[in-house]
Amino acid sequence: MTRHLVIAIDGPSASGKGTLAKRLARHFGLPHLDTGLLYRAVGWISARSGRPPAEVAASLTADDLADPQLRSDEAGQEGSKVAALPEVRANLLKFQKEFSSQQPGAVLDGRDIGTVICPEAPVKLFVTASSEARAERRYRELRRQGVDTIKPRVLAEMAERDRRDSERAAAPLRAAPDAWLLDTSEMDADAAFAAALAFIERKGFRSSGP
Ligand code: C5P
Repeated sequence: MTRHLVIAIDGPSASGKGTLAKRLARHFGLPHLDTGLLYRAVGWISARSGRPPAEVAASLTADDLADPQLRSDEAGQEGSKVAALPEVRANLLKFQKEFSSQQPGAVLDGRDIGTVICPEAPVKLFVTASSEARAERRYRELRRQGVDTIKPRVLAEMAERDRRDSERAAAPLRAAPDAWLLDTSEMDADAAFAAALAFIERKGFRSSGP
């Protein structure tokens, strides 16, 4: 019998959690949900339509998540603002819980997966990196996308979002007490994946694929 494998990955922006989540999902043949996209979509749509964020959250569809603009820093800031509203979080809870209860499992990444969405997950990772390493990654990514910015601005915007995410009352960014801490400051994506995979395999989970 295969055990239900939920991999809960939390951490601040540009810690490497998204890339890690995608790779682990592919390795184990599991569906992946980037929960940050839900908050980004709510913030983005609400700011442009004037509709209350909680109402947007209640009627969010898969199509709403496809907009490439959601990857922008502006959408990240808007997402972080609406993410502090308990009603928005409550309205996105059911979708995330249902996603995580699929068989044979799922990979979810965000800020409160191990603490609120999937407190029973058998695998919890909290991915961090120094502010400098994260800002450097984000800066390079923005430059690759052709965005004209400077490093101090990227660092300042990241610090603002980290502070808002960590200090809010509703589901703040926090490692679950039983989460495994992975600091990727000195790691590339391959090294982070290898470290996380070794940890998951030590827990007795193996890919059933070829
Ligand atoms: O991870 P990402 O940068 O896409 O997340 C955008 C924002 O959504 C975060 O800054 C955070 O405020 C919020 N978020 C959250 N809970 C999650 C995922 C994201 O509050 N599980």
